[in-house]
Amino acid sequence: MTSKNTTTGKVYLIGAGPGDPGLITVRARELIETVDVIVYDYLSNAKFLDWARADAETIYVGKIAGRHSIPQDEIEEILVQHALKGKSVVRLKGGDPFVFGRGGEEIEQLEIDKIPFEIVPGVTAALASAAYAGIPLSHRDYSSSITFLTGHENPEKQSLSIDFRKYAKFTGTLCLYMGIGQLSRIVAQLREGGLAASTPVGIIEWATLNRQRSCFGTLETIEDVLAESGLGAPAMVIIGEVVAQRSKANWFENRPLFGRRLVVTRAREQAGQLTELLELQGAEVIELPFIKVEPQFDPKRLSEILAGIAVYEWIIFTSANGVKAFFELFYKAFDDIRCLGPMRIAAVGAATAQAIQAHKLKVDFVPKQANADALADQLIENEGLESLQVLVITGNQNRESLIKRLETEGRAIVDTLPLYKTSQTDLLQDASAARLREVGADAILFTSSSTVNSFIEQQPAFKLAEGARRPALGSIGPLTSKCLHQHKLPIGFEAKHSSLDQFVQATIQHFASAKK
Ligand code: SAH
Repeated sequence: MTSKNTTTGKVYLIGAGPGDPGLITVRARELIETVDVIVYDYLSNAKFLDWARADAETIYVGKIAGRHSIPQDEIEEILVQHALKGKSVVRLKGGDPFVFGRGGEEIEQLEIDKIPFEIVPGVTAALASAAYAGIPLSHRDYSSSITFLTGHENPEKQSLSIDFRKYAKFTGTLCLYMGIGQLSRIVAQLREGGLAASTPVGIIEWATLNRQRSCFGTLETIEDVLAESGLGAPAMVIIGEVVAQRSKANWFENRPLFGRRLVVTRAREQAGQLTELLELQGAEVIELPFIKVEPQFDPKRLSEILAGIAVYEWIIFTSANGVKAFFELFYKAFDDIRCLGPMRIAAVGAATAQAIQAHKLKVDFVPKQANADALADQLIENEGLESLQVLVITGNQNRESLIKRLETEGRAIVDTLPLYKTSQTDLLQDASAARLREVGADAILFTSSSTVNSFIEQQPAFKLAEGARRPALGSIGPLTSKCLHQHKLPIGFEAKHSSLDQFVQATIQHFASAKK
């Protein structure tokens, strides 16, 4: 190797796929997780950025409302400059970087500047849209060629100089990117070129996301069909006999909650899990962060407790947030897990226990019910705490009664270490809540009475725009329903047992009967 380039970084041109985060490649994910810098434009899924290292720099180079995107040569300059500083840089693009993605221009510049690069292909929108609409792009009987076309040669200028008449001669499948805006001219030219008016056409908007919509017609009818459907960009137009051969099962759009927009409140640790379960069934989920959790502790108290950590005979964690905060601080202070000492460990709730086990620590005690009272009852009764040194790791809420009971009924010597605070988020400032106000939802799913209370307290944030969908209210179980009743809110549906799976089932049933 020459010494010249040893400090130069590397640029990775990566395809992010069409939107569903499951459709990115393993290689792409590996790189997103490890590089120093991520340069991206508008992505149909922001989840990819969550995978980045906490200290990675993310640079948005896409269009900002009302303004043009950063010019291509400036983007290239950003890539080059960071690489010259020795950084590893991911350039993330929707679909595949070499399919109408200007990847060619970017590598040209990298080659001129002698910057090493790697290219990771992605699932391009044509393949994704066809798959998620059940259209076989090639077919032994109907189509033996597939053409990728763009409606604009350059998305920046809305011009059209391609002569579509010549594509009418192919008997294969045409996949039209960026074609919606120019559809009537393209259709007219294809017909002028000789393509039959009866040729089937499908249009798929936001393919692979749970907000996907599609409409179907022929060259003759598609403009009217499109206008009526209200579909818009980003959308893929597929033209050819294969469109008529699409699967009747419609595997993606026929999932039970497809087309339903559901609100999940992110106040419980399992909210992410509920979202995943609902998305698997096809729902579009808006997550509302009712509560935010921030670190909050007294550094002096923390260092005193950590200095004497080995004296405790029990350590009690009341939430997974507490476990997370505690171990972050513990590892900063010690680099040996044995510094914890020989204590026993108790946890409220399975999620809390799981978070502890992730550190390869056995949890000695979990009460049958996931609440602090049950922990106090059963720990005092089964284990006996008299004169034992107990450390309770908590947040800023609901801790007094637990501590008091351990001290008075259990006669334990209790130290408390509050590490975080939970507070209400201002939903009026939140982007997901703004979307909810604008478009509404089919249901709001309440997972606890505290989420119902937050809903009541934050009513102005739920003021729906005219024409927005009016949601039904779903309840995970009797306690939550009781709270809804108390506030005189109508219960649209309730889970048979208080579990996330049952809640998803109840939601499916609610909409299945609504359909009839
Ligand atoms: N490099 C991208 C294409 C970029 S051009 C790729 O390989 O897919 C942008 C066009 O791609 C959009 O106008 C639309 O026609 C199409 N497109 C991108 N994502 C899409 C999606 N999820 N559903 C339908 N069409 C999509």
